[in-house]
Amino acid sequence: MNDIIIIGGGIIGAFIAHDLSRYKLKITLLEKDNDVANETTMANSAIIHTGYDPKDGSLKADLNVEGHRLYPQICKDLEVPYQQIGAYIVAFNDEDEKNLAILKQRAIARNIPYEELTPEQFLIVEPLLNPQIKKVLSFPTTAIIDPMQTCAALIDVAITNGVDVRLNQEVISITDTTDGYLVNTQDHSYATRYVINCAGINSAKVARMIGDDSFDITYRKGEYYVLDKKASYLTKHIIYPCPSKMGKGVLIVPTIHHNILLGPTAFDVEKDDDVATSITGLQEVRQKAQKIIPNIPFDLVIRTFAGLRAKGSTDDFIIYENNQHSHFINVAGIDSPGIASAPAISRYVINNFFHDLQLKENYTIKRRGYYHFDALDEASKARLIAHEPKFGHIICRCEKISEQEIIDCIHRPLVPRTLKAIKKRLRPGMGRCQGGFCAPLIIKIIAKELNIPEDQVCYDAYESKILCYESKGDDHE
Ligand SMILES: Cc1cc2nc3c(=O)[nH]c(=O)nc-3n(C[C@H](O)[C@H](O)[C@H](O)COP(=O)(O)OP(=O)(O)OC[C@H]3O[C@@H](n4cnc5c(N)ncnc54)[C@H](O)[C@@H]3O)c2cc1C
Repeated sequence: MNDIIIIGGGIIGAFIAHDLSRYKLKITLLEKDNDVANETTMANSAIIHTGYDPKDGSLKADLNVEGHRLYPQICKDLEVPYQQIGAYIVAFNDEDEKNLAILKQRAIARNIPYEELTPEQFLIVEPLLNPQIKKVLSFPTTAIIDPMQTCAALIDVAITNGVDVRLNQEVISITDTTDGYLVNTQDHSYATRYVINCAGINSAKVARMIGDDSFDITYRKGEYYVLDKKASYLTKHIIYPCPSKMGKGVLIVPTIHHNILLGPTAFDVEKDDDVATSITGLQEVRQKAQKIIPNIPFDLVIRTFAGLRAKGSTDDFIIYENNQHSHFINVAGIDSPGIASAPAISRYVINNFFHDLQLKENYTIKRRGYYHFDALDEASKARLIAHEPKFGHIICRCEKISEQEIIDCIHRPLVPRTLKAIKKRLRPGMGRCQGGFCAPLIIKIIAKELNIPEDQVCYDAYESKILCYESKGDDHE
């Protein structure tokens, strides 16, 4: 019998698993995909907002401010990147200026550092921005992270502390039993006292498995362009237009890995797997981004992608224990600022719904970060190569990632078994050639390290086999 089943291995399930893993509890996390951070946590702007945007009195406002405060120490403990680069919100007209005034009032009330800049002051720092901008509100403590790496790191700590993480386990039904719940996947049943539903865009479907239809989730798609690192000269800060009813608008965001993101759009879609980009969506991004920075080098686009926001029907995070089915906790409607709020959401869940928890005698909150061979000075590189020559064998030439870094990444508590899982943690395949050169080499490394045939290595889901047959054999000439 489990004490707790967590459904969903996105940033929310990962934080809750990580934070609860220090207590004397038997916890299992069920994730339907072949890896964690495979849905919304994989496709977003990765900004740790400071918390000026959510409406007064909302859970979003409180948890965003608190989450932003918690992140630096957590990222330090996990040895994952966190960079405070600051954000500028730009106003083009009187209407925008009125909106800036509201954001400024919220910042004052929430004790969030801000600064007002004139166009002259601002264009000295960001000379490529549109000179028609009338006013700027600066939020210097806004930060960026790598949500996929952070999620995997949280899960690694949770596993080290004893959480059982089961991938490829899609929850399809839940039965309320006398002493708890039976959570059923396609091939297993898990008995548990508590259920925490962190199923992202599927969270309303999971709630309905126990007959709870008190909230709905709509899927609000956001499309992006990714620019090559060569475009990093465009801006050093995150640049936002003034937010509207549909969200924060199309942004220009430097990523923690020195690419530039342009996006996202905000369109409601019907299907929970509709993450296709579209000509209309990308044209909108292009036009809105060019309003902020007129000369964007679109020839440096290396990728487009889209993510789905789980938009809750209450227009706020939906976090409660079901009053007819006790110990069933929904953590739903976690759209933006869900990444920024995640550590505080986890604390909120633990403080409100769990009592008298006992700490384990031994647990960890730290984990060793991945190697960043390319970032080292020459003497340190030489030392590492002398210790392990595979550090000197570069596999991904765009991102400059060595064989030993990939091997080290594979031998972690949550073993990345697919090409995409390695890509999400270490970035081979995220560069200019998008994996054209390194993919076959990584397949060989995964196969060797996991002792499986090369043709069993998948890109992502189990069906996504990469090697189907020998293209140069006698049978296929
Ligand atoms: C375009 C866009 C931009 C955004 N930008 C930002 C930003 O800059 N800053 C910010 O703070 N927030 C941002 N967000 C919001 C943020 O990405 C989300 O709030 C956050 O990722 C939600 O995490 P989650 O764990 O709730 O959901 P997810 O990451 O989707 O995780 C849910 C998990 O549950 C699993 N699951 C679903 N159904 C089942 C089932 N039946 N059985 C088992 N497992 C299941 C899924 O496979 C998935 O892994 C953005 C979102 C989008 C879409």
